[in-house]
Amino acid sequence: TVICEICCQSRPYSGMVGSGCAHVFCVDCYRSYVAQRMLQAGHAPRSIAAALLDDQLVLRLLEGSPKLRGQFQKALVTNFVTCNRRLAFCPGADCECVVRLLDDAVRACRVTCRCGKTFCFACAQDWHEPISCSMLRRWQQKNAGESMSTQWFMANTKECPKCHATIEKNGGCNHMKCRNATCNHEFCWVCMDDWQPHGKEWYNCNRFDEERAERVRRQQALSRNYLSRYLHYYDLYMNHLKSLEFEARLQETVHSKMDEMQYHGLSWIEVKFLRDAVAVLCNCRRVLMYTYVFAYYLKPSNQQKIFEDNQRNLQLATEDLSEVLEREMQLEDVAQLKRLVQDKFRFCETRSAALLDHVYEGYRMSCWDFEFHEGLKLNLA
Ligand SMILES: [Zn+2]
Ligand SMILES: [Zn+2]
Ligand SMILES: [Zn+2]
Ligand SMILES: [Zn+2]
Ligand SMILES: [Zn+2]
Ligand SMILES: [Zn+2]
Repeated sequence: TVICEICCQSRPYSGMVGSGCAHVFCVDCYRSYVAQRMLQAGHAPRSIAAALLDDQLVLRLLEGSPKLRGQFQKALVTNFVTCNRRLAFCPGADCECVVRLLDDAVRACRVTCRCGKTFCFACAQDWHEPISCSMLRRWQQKNAGESMSTQWFMANTKECPKCHATIEKNGGCNHMKCRNATCNHEFCWVCMDDWQPHGKEWYNCNRFDEERAERVRRQQALSRNYLSRYLHYYDLYMNHLKSLEFEARLQETVHSKMDEMQYHGLSWIEVKFLRDAVAVLCNCRRVLMYTYVFAYYLKPSNQQKIFEDNQRNLQLATEDLSEVLEREMQLEDVAQLKRLVQDKFRFCETRSAALLDHVYEGYRMSCWDFEFHEGLKLNLA
């Protein structure tokens, strides 16, 4: 007899399994160990006690329980893919494809799955040229955590009760006066009531002492500065993100236009320019979107000014193309429409290439300095 290394009981040799090395276990222990570990960890164990797990052996032992066997097989695939630098699962919804990289020198690259999903191989997010995976992660974490600051922003900005202009609380004093020159309404920050009755009993609402009022005022100024910078770029970023959500609808419009043109005797080749234009438009929006993240973290410099000029140029070209695709599709003269659309999207491509080339050139020359301010700790207590 031999001793099982899991239950420590001696068993006849015939009822034991091993992994080809000196370690031996009884069949029941081996099987339940694998099943239990898979339930706990959600993936297949790589070892059992001190021995390597024998995949073929496990598969044989699990023959009686097809569900567990299926899970184990799936887990083996997951292990294999996550351990292989050149393999990645497609993040597409309901897609179970594995994408293989031909050359893993640069893993942060654009890949397109059979299902049509385009993503970054390294981080499985949407393709995020020209920013790095880690910058994207920071930005997403910031957006997720920013709701606190946004709440703070909301708490420190109120609407004038009379004219609804946005008024920022600029100090500890609760005596507010609307900045709108035609309004000039005076009210109390705490109760939002007219200031007039407070005139004599101001202490009813004003609970700030002078020192604290000053501290609050300074902190607010600083926070608003960072926050308004962030909100500025967040706004631009979200704007393109939202536009991209209309991508499918625009594609539909364009496809029906293409069908119509083909019905009138034009060939697929002749109307293909519309499809190309939508692809260019979406690409430009994607590039712009991520360059706002880049811009948010970028420190001021001469190169940064050139970058912003390039960005502005692409922004203008993109809005121009978008306008043409959304409004001027009624143009009956196809040759004229084609010339117009092609001019616009080729201009976009040129602008986009100029912007990206400059950014990559900057990476190569180490021109870019980033500042990752982690946001302010708001400490008003
Ligand atoms: Zn045992
Ligand atoms: Zn896929
Ligand atoms: Zn990435
Ligand atoms: Zn007002
Ligand atoms: Zn006052
Ligand atoms: Zn009051």
